[in-house]
Amino acid sequence: MTSARTRGRMVERLRTQGIKDESVLAVMGALPRHVFVDEALAHRAYDDVALPIGHGQTISQPYIVARMSELAVSALRRERVLEIGTGCGYQSAVLGKLFKTVFSVERIALLLDKARSTLRELQVNNVRLRHADGHLGLPESGPFDVVIMTAAASHLPLSLLEQLAPGGRLIFPLGTTDQELRVIERTPDGFVEVRLEKVRFVPLLPGLA
Ligand code: SAH
Repeated sequence: MTSARTRGRMVERLRTQGIKDESVLAVMGALPRHVFVDEALAHRAYDDVALPIGHGQTISQPYIVARMSELAVSALRRERVLEIGTGCGYQSAVLGKLFKTVFSVERIALLLDKARSTLRELQVNNVRLRHADGHLGLPESGPFDVVIMTAAASHLPLSLLEQLAPGGRLIFPLGTTDQELRVIERTPDGFVEVRLEKVRFVPLLPGLA
């Protein structure tokens, strides 16, 4: 249930769902997703569902991780990425295999500690974790080629736009009950926004916990 063959089936399903980027598919086919969830849930780790990770939070379903990663790798450069909402660290690890350096911020300290030990166990060494409120981004470590939000904001946090490098893209779910995936790119002519499909993420919350 947690074998390479199960991961292979997940990758085939991602293909039928429309994921085309071979680098994303290869990374998700190799990375053990079950290590990021509770042992009792490990047998469901490759189903296309979000699963609880404690503290009222979830690990995103494989499809949405693949979708966001595919949008990320089509950015101009693959040097620096900022993720808002580390959770269990699965998306961070996927990005770690696709980008040179990943910064990821999480507001819940206990989730961050667990993610840190999982990433260490898997020897993912290019992901830097910070206990911080993602509304503010991480100005001291930017600018970023990609900023990816894995929690939904009711309004676009403007500080994140300011931290985009030229050609950089912000990938984020916007809304409360009705959410939409959006991409904003910093072009020489200004910011260009593209509205994508409906999505469902946990909310971006204020402050630290
Ligand atoms: N990236 C994760 C998804 C985690 S769910 C994955 O791979 O599955 C979203 C996470 O965003 C939760 O852990 C939640 O605590 C965190 N979060 C919510 N608001 C935040 C904020 N303002 N700053 C940082 N993290 C936040």
